[in-house]
Amino acid sequence: MVCTSMVTSACLSRKVHTFGRLFVANLLVALLYLYLCAPAESTPTPAESALGGPEAKEVILTGINSCQACGKTSASGETAQGAKCSIFGHSCTFIIETAKDMDGKEIEDLKKKELNYRLNQQSIPLVKSDEYQGARLEIKGKWLKEKREIEVTSFKRIEK
Ligand SMILES: [Zn+2]
Repeated sequence: MVCTSMVTSACLSRKVHTFGRLFVANLLVALLYLYLCAPAESTPTPAESALGGPEAKEVILTGINSCQACGKTSASGETAQGAKCSIFGHSCTFIIETAKDMDGKEIEDLKKKELNYRLNQQSIPLVKSDEYQGARLEIKGKWLKEKREIEVTSFKRIEK
């Protein structure tokens, strides 16, 4: 009886020992896994911040380039009296008809919305010149959602 008990206990002790080693090994594997995988999920990608934050989205828009002061197609439908555009130049915004992302998916948030232009080399002629006041355009650029602006990359005139 004593002998059996001793054998059992020795056996049990060996089992516990093996289990302990296995447990430690598993724990190390788990920690290694966490170490390798966790940072990839939580670190923000630097590319997004370089584009001006996660709210900057590449879009393709069609719509009307219209002067807020004298445009007949302004969002409000009104024409301001005594606009001094011939002296100071226009101040156009873009009234959206269709909006798609780079995958060709429609962006409901932008339909019939009006966006200001972020001033840059590409957008200056759209904002100021007579040539594009009232023109229907297709614009490629970055939609800055928070600022309600479009940063124009390229644009072309399209048929009505
Ligand atoms: Zn004007």
